[in-house]
Amino acid sequence: MKVYIIDYVLKNSKGDVLDKSHQGHPLAFISEQGQIIPGLEKEIVTLKVGEEKKIEVKSDEAYGPYVHELIQDVPLTALPDAEKLKVGDRMWGETNQGKRPFLVKAINKTHATMDGNHPLAGQDLFFEVKLVQVRDATEEELLHGHVHGPGGHHH
Ligand code: ZN
Repeated sequence: MKVYIIDYVLKNSKGDVLDKSHQGHPLAFISEQGQIIPGLEKEIVTLKVGEEKKIEVKSDEAYGPYVHELIQDVPLTALPDAEKLKVGDRMWGETNQGKRPFLVKAINKTHATMDGNHPLAGQDLFFEVKLVQVRDATEEELLHGHVHGPGGHHH
């Protein structure tokens, strides 16, 4: 397992920038750990240091399809602190597949509409990636499950 350090820009199919690494603050991840989406990792590991590439990742290799069953109307009486709830809040909820974060999409007098889809579910993603560095992961990093130093944790 290796540490890959990348600069990237993420756009949607319309060309809007959804996310990017900032100057001097690259993204670092450990390979083969599911730390980034599979469709992106499998391309990055083929790059040479300094190489740039446009990588298109279909939704099924990114955050999966948009699942309508994950939109649920929940009675306000079933929610803690319902009176403080606002559209745009996130909270954890139970589903058939275990706990996952839900976004509050709408609230009326009796119910809140909660969406358990990842914000990027159902979207094809367009990355522009530059591989900055590759190195072996240290034993400590593998033990902690994250990268230390630039692009990773400092502790
Ligand atoms: Zn650590």
